[in-house]
Amino acid sequence: MRSILLWVSENDWCRETLPSFGFVKKAVRRFMPGEELVDALREAQQLLTQHRIPSLVTFLGENVADANEARAVADHYVEAVEAIKEKGIDAEISLKPTHLGLDLGAEVAFENISRVTRAAAEAGSWVWVDMEYSRYVDPTLDLYRAIRANHENFGICLQAYLHRTPADVESLIPLGPGIRLVKGAYAEPPDVALPDKKDVDQAFYDLSVRMLQPDALEAGLRLGVATHDGALVRRIASWADRAGVAKDGYEVQMLYGIATDLQRTLAREGRGIRVLISYGKHWFPWYVRRLAERPANVGFVLKSMLPG
Ligand SMILES: Cc1cc2nc3c(=O)[nH]c(=O)nc-3n(C[C@H](O)[C@H](O)[C@H](O)COP(=O)(O)OP(=O)(O)OC[C@H]3O[C@@H](n4cnc5c(N)ncnc54)[C@H](O)[C@@H]3O)c2cc1C
Repeated sequence: MRSILLWVSENDWCRETLPSFGFVKKAVRRFMPGEELVDALREAQQLLTQHRIPSLVTFLGENVADANEARAVADHYVEAVEAIKEKGIDAEISLKPTHLGLDLGAEVAFENISRVTRAAAEAGSWVWVDMEYSRYVDPTLDLYRAIRANHENFGICLQAYLHRTPADVESLIPLGPGIRLVKGAYAEPPDVALPDKKDVDQAFYDLSVRMLQPDALEAGLRLGVATHDGALVRRIASWADRAGVAKDGYEVQMLYGIATDLQRTLAREGRGIRVLISYGKHWFPWYVRRLAERPANVGFVLKSMLPG
């Protein structure tokens, strides 16, 4: 089921046709409060005032093939940073390098992402760069290093399922980076990524513990452990508590609409927690990756076909 869904997420016909079906639109609402920035900011405000949970916002889209479009995405993010500042919400930006033009060349993405990061620095906020397919890891790391040289408010996502990630972590630690660790959402071959879920879970734990060691924290590493896996969150928290890491010395990051009870419990316990809220019209491939993470979600799509 996971492979079929990941194939659907990449198929051009599915990308163009399925999002127009009403029942698919209805089902996506579970993970996305709406298609506009105002919808995401309304929800960010509510999370903050009702549950004291800060957020990340992301404007959905990927693999932009036109330089003007990539520039317009950067313009949009700069406006988003300004709107967030005006509202006084604690919300950071999370963006995909191929949405900002990485397929058009490293310079295009560098220029666009630098502009958003500069605006965020002026607003006292952060930008996080997502990690896409494994073929993008080297160019994304190069981009990260180049932009991080000018801006400290810049984090990168690393995927625990990749065999290369422990080495990438070691090479980044001296920079005092922002690192968001995820399990990994794309279809990758076994010579590139761990095929067994239990190995990915263990790699996630080991990498989290590595990034919470004194040398990494003293270098200035800001860690986001991005998972909804409650057992893993508790295992990492229990290690961190024993090691004397402050409860808010790192952050759990989760997606809007998933494991909501756990998000609120962590906030009540005074632990670092941040929720990523997505918006935008190009939600289809992103949404199908969410279905692939938990094929039981397909049941929600089928239910949303029912009237009422
Ligand atoms: C803030 C954030 C940013 C991310 N950014 C990236 C990125 O840049 N690149 C990338 O490759 N991946 C990214 N991901 C996705 C990540 O790689 C995983 O695919 C995703 O988080 C699912 O894995 P899990 O860690 O939640 O654990 P799993 O073991 O897959 O799930 C644990 C439990 O969480 C719940 N759960 C998990 N996913 C869902 C879902 N979709 N719907 C309902 N319940 C669910 C279920 O109860 C499940 O049993 C991101 C995830 C988060 C939270």
